Amino acid sequence: GLAIDPAAERLVSPCDGQVTQLHSSGHALTVTTAEGLEILMHVGLETVLLKGQGFSPKVKEGQAVKAGDLLIEFDADFIVHRALSLLTIVVVSNPERVAEFLPSEGFVEAGQSDLLELRLASTMATAAGPSPAAETDSQGPLASEPIVVLNPAGLHARPSAVLANRAKKYQSRISLEKESGAKGNAKSVVSIMGLEVKAHDRVVLSAEGPDAREALSELAPLLASGLGESLHGEPAQEPKPKVERKASSDPNVYLGVAASPGLALGQVFQLRYAETQVEEKGQGAEVEKALLSEAIKKSVSELKELQSQMRQKAEAGKAAIFAAHEELLEDPELLERADQGIDQGQSAAFAWQAAFAAQAEALARLNNELLAGRANDVRDIGRRVLAHLTEAKEAKPEIPKGAILVAEDLTPSDTAALDKSKIQGFAVVGGSATSHASILARAAGLPAIAAIEERALGIEPGTTAVLDGDKGELRLNPSAEEVEAINKALRAAAERREKELSEAMAASQTVDGRRVKVVANVGGLAEAVEIPGLGGEGVGLLRSEFLFLQRVEAPAQSEQEAAYVGVAKALGPERDLVVRTLDVGGDKPLAYMPLPHEVNPFLGVRGIRLNLLGTDLFRAQVRAILRAAPYARLHIMFPMVTSVEELKEAKAIVLNEKEALGVQDEVKIGVMVEVPAAALLADVMAKEADFFSIGTNDLTQYCLAIDRGHPRLAKMADALHPAVLRLIDLTVKGAHGQGKWVGVCGGVAGDVVAGPALIGLGVDELSVSGGSIPAVKALIRRLSYARCQEIAQEALKMKNAKEVRDFLAQEAKEAS
Ligand code: PEP
Ligand code: MG
Repeated sequence: GLAIDPAAERLVSPCDGQVTQLHSSGHALTVTTAEGLEILMHVGLETVLLKGQGFSPKVKEGQAVKAGDLLIEFDADFIVHRALSLLTIVVVSNPERVAEFLPSEGFVEAGQSDLLELRLASTMATAAGPSPAAETDSQGPLASEPIVVLNPAGLHARPSAVLANRAKKYQSRISLEKESGAKGNAKSVVSIMGLEVKAHDRVVLSAEGPDAREALSELAPLLASGLGESLHGEPAQEPKPKVERKASSDPNVYLGVAASPGLALGQVFQLRYAETQVEEKGQGAEVEKALLSEAIKKSVSELKELQSQMRQKAEAGKAAIFAAHEELLEDPELLERADQGIDQGQSAAFAWQAAFAAQAEALARLNNELLAGRANDVRDIGRRVLAHLTEAKEAKPEIPKGAILVAEDLTPSDTAALDKSKIQGFAVVGGSATSHASILARAAGLPAIAAIEERALGIEPGTTAVLDGDKGELRLNPSAEEVEAINKALRAAAERREKELSEAMAASQTVDGRRVKVVANVGGLAEAVEIPGLGGEGVGLLRSEFLFLQRVEAPAQSEQEAAYVGVAKALGPERDLVVRTLDVGGDKPLAYMPLPHEVNPFLGVRGIRLNLLGTDLFRAQVRAILRAAPYARLHIMFPMVTSVEELKEAKAIVLNEKEALGVQDEVKIGVMVEVPAAALLADVMAKEADFFSIGTNDLTQYCLAIDRGHPRLAKMADALHPAVLRLIDLTVKGAHGQGKWVGVCGGVAGDVVAGPALIGLGVDELSVSGGSIPAVKALIRRLSYARCQEIAQEALKMKNAKEVRDFLAQEAKEAS
């Protein structure tokens, strides 16, 4: 075929024929000629992601067309700004029927003169050939062009899940093949992951069945565009080879990987799984298959229950882990393997055990830390189903108080069920810092070590040990002095914390009477319910992303509503609740909202830009947030604002929805100051906004041009840089000039060294993590506002962040 760079905004039919396929996004169609030649036309590259925006098809499937008839009209300007290219491809998708391609020379006119003459292969010239209609029963096998996978970490769990999910919608058999010839089932997450497709590998998708063509036309561009993942990951996200196991020469020291920070002192408890013994011989395929299907059904409903519990606690990340487990239970490879065993006369339990063990082993063998970590997830679901099949009520071991667990591995289900009142921390031989057990440990604040030396499994139970989750080190038999020193440090920290906590309800006011509100940054209900008890005066930043990330579909408005109302009720009508509208896009992509690939996602379609682009999603979110208005003092805040126009547009949507819903309660509308433009224009914005909240994490990144996650430079992205302090100063002056208040919700707000400078600049509110509230309130009560103002003025004049930090550290030392 050929490609045309269009100068007009019309695609016309190159020949007579019938429209046999029109993509639902209106950007591509196929015209089949009377001879059975299929001419596929595709306007632009990666335009499927526009989901129909910019395209108006002028024909319907089944319609007869003549050469020159208008097929699709498109908005070239709109498309070039959002897609990779406008290059339009016209190809014969069954080229085996063409003997020769004869392109014309000179000028041709669309629909008037011939661009390409095709000489048909003789079989077609002599026989009528199958009619296009007969072909639709079974197509294929059809194969895509080779696709270069650009996902920085290759096809790991999340993109594999997106691909498998989309592939499952089709009846055709769909496979994914690597250049090496390794082939996997594209409907199976495990099978795709097992191919170990790395960044820049070339793969081919093939499909066979009644909807093979539709499948490929959706899946191939989706795979090429990253399956909803940002194609610009940090090198740190690339597949890491499996961790080199560390080994200590000291018999009392066991080395591993730091999985969750913190120090723990306790007695080793060895947690072992008893192998479940199952009968090999079954009672016939029909009976056994029914048993297996029943056990899987029970497991799925347990997993659904777990997810709903997690979501009620607004722990979306944890819910997502169990959602992925549910996905694994539908994995066709796993089920086929078990079925084969049953067909050979095995019992359901035996066949299932063999199937999941083989899959887990295959994953564990992969030379990729991320994928090997998923072996444990397969074992987890495997055991869950097996428990139903054997009805073995595994006697749960009685874990003593003060235990440091040592185990081969912990499944996410085990970790979620750990009793924190008894367990001080855990060390596992398997896993890695990115495995789900480690993620859950960090969420629970439990010190943990992964990939510890295998000999740890031989430690005598009851041995006293120190687990250092920061270093990834387990030390046995600490000396009496060491135990005393650790106990002393833990006690002193606990005492200080207890004192601060006991005074947490007192107002946060400086010694000379300046009120500074202390509120919290939260990611969901679980954290929000703790805030009043910690002395928090409200929530200064609810990161609404918690509802949207790590899932395959957008949350329904009703689910969002329940979440926001839940948080508002937890705070009550006396407290502020600041909800930030969805802050994704760019570096935080959503699988269900694939955006065109961006060269520089931090400077791309993100924050309010995405809000205003995807207005349906935005309006649904706004409506859901507004439902919380009766239950707390509701504030809505927009992320990444750079202009007054954006603010006005977003504000108009909120006011419009508020009126439509008939919400009578007052709702304040604010701006997150995260981009220097917003700080510099604060005086102008203050006329439109009710309040400001400074997101110093991003403000520092954009002010200093340092990526906040950069592996080497991130340390230099210090919000105490005088340039950032000057932007804070400008924001406060601009806002106060119009009688509006300013908070700081970036990480620096909880940094007690930085507190005096921020307060001295006139910041009215500090929004910090819940756990830091008592300490920050205690700090404010020790400070003098007059001195803080002097400190701030000094700092503004300094040359660099280090100078400011040293100066503030000295001040803090002298004050204590
Ligand atoms: C910030 O940028 O400072 C901020 C609080 O937002 P986030 O960290 O969620 O980007
Ligand atoms: Mg931010």
